[in-house]
Amino acid sequence: MSVTPHWIDGARTTGSSTRTGDVFRPSTGEVARQVALADQSDVDLAVSSAVKAAQSWADSSLSTRSRVLFAFRQLVHDHADELAEIISSEHGKVVSDAAGEVQRGLEVVEFACGIPHLLKGEHSEQVSRGVDAYSVREPLGVVAGITPFNFPVMVPMWMFPVAIAAGNAFVLKPSERDPSASVRLAELFGEAGLPDGVLNVVQGDATAVNALLDHPDVAGVSFVGSTPIAKHVYARGTANGKRVQALGGAKNHMVVLPDADIDVAADAAVSAGYGSAGERCMAISVIVAVGDVADRLVEAIAVRTRQLVTGPGDDSSSQMGPLVTGAHRDKVASYVDAGVAEGATLVVDGRGYAPAGFENGFWVAPTLFDHVTPEMSIYRDEIFGPVLSVVRVETFEDAVRLVNANPYGNGTAVYTGDGLAAREYQRRVHVGMVGINVPIPVPMAYYSFGGWKDSLFGDTHVHGAEGVRFYTRAKAVTARWPRQSGIDLGFPTNG
Ligand code: NAD
Repeated sequence: MSVTPHWIDGARTTGSSTRTGDVFRPSTGEVARQVALADQSDVDLAVSSAVKAAQSWADSSLSTRSRVLFAFRQLVHDHADELAEIISSEHGKVVSDAAGEVQRGLEVVEFACGIPHLLKGEHSEQVSRGVDAYSVREPLGVVAGITPFNFPVMVPMWMFPVAIAAGNAFVLKPSERDPSASVRLAELFGEAGLPDGVLNVVQGDATAVNALLDHPDVAGVSFVGSTPIAKHVYARGTANGKRVQALGGAKNHMVVLPDADIDVAADAAVSAGYGSAGERCMAISVIVAVGDVADRLVEAIAVRTRQLVTGPGDDSSSQMGPLVTGAHRDKVASYVDAGVAEGATLVVDGRGYAPAGFENGFWVAPTLFDHVTPEMSIYRDEIFGPVLSVVRVETFEDAVRLVNANPYGNGTAVYTGDGLAAREYQRRVHVGMVGINVPIPVPMAYYSFGGWKDSLFGDTHVHGAEGVRFYTRAKAVTARWPRQSGIDLGFPTNG
């Protein structure tokens, strides 16, 4: 059986650890391959390769870096179909959805191609007589990225193109559930002219993550994954003196006001709730139906939900694929059981479904609950599956209160034709990314992505201007070229 390897110092290697993990084909339930699981010595090797490469990469000209990024951009573009197929085969999502993820990752590379402009500093002439002041931003050295299973191409590409463009070397620890695309990306970056060691990929689990968090040569860590692990990564990384941005889980509410167009809102709810089988950190998992919109809205969502086609990701007639693993399928199904036991109304039941010929795959079909209340586990917990919950509230105020009381604050959307109500919602809601009649408001690459509250630990969002800031540190310079001088023990003033 083939083993997905690490990528260290410009080459594939299975490393010295003998531990491996199973990688499944979610539509059939079969183990498709193994993945190498790094131990401490594999991580040490990757970091030392990055340390060796970091200085000369930081010394390379901005034009050189930009040119390598442009070449990488072209190669990812040329191999987009191949990457989408790799993603779909290991994650399960439909190929067209996987292609969208590659495209959104590519947009971050395009943003990073502009690094000469992004790293421009400030300059103030004559801050005092004959004195100039200026600031520059320098790379941190070696930085690490730890990424989740749900976007095996896009989330790593939120990180390493910006970090590398800024002059850092990068060690990526992708999810062990769908590890193969990251090796292909590193290989393509090498083909684009990236020197060996500037991007290393270490496959693994908690052992590799903790080795990176403890490694003295890793200066910064970007993490994306679930909230409990984000907390752990933030605490351990910062305790070790590192700069850490740790993006966590989510429970994203879509508020539908009484004046909303029901068809538009129902289309959005179904697309954002069940796309990628709900395995998106920006998936809508809660519909907040305000006032008398509820009955009509639930009916419109139910009609659409029942018509969705769930099947293998590589079948072009499928709209939704399987879940990533059998364990995750069981967890999602157990939440549906809990919702029923807790008294929610199960409008559409996706349990027990399997397309013909794929009986052993990891299936849960789209599922819809109505009359969900905030005490229920299906409301409180991130299910990360194709399960939509409708919570009914009386007023706009109730909706804002509900969303703001939720511990997560990743994304939210409001559906209305009333601009003033939308503006009020946007201003009052305690959530990092807000959509107005846009169900999944993922910021473009030149803005920054990140949530609030339990959806982000640290203070910097990813990509865009905040990404550049995270991967660089500021140096402020005060310069004088004196022709004469004298002793002055006073505190300098700027006369
Ligand atoms: P996860 O937290 O299980 O894993 C994320 C990473 O952490 C993986 O690389 C994994 O190997 C590692 N990891 C797992 N357990 C660990 C442990 N005990 N110690 C150290 N490292 C460990 O997340 P997942 O299941 O791969 O991904 C789904 C989660 O990611 C969801 O909660 C989703 O909301 C979240 N997510 C958030 C965003 C965001 O931008 N906020 C984006 C995508 C996904």
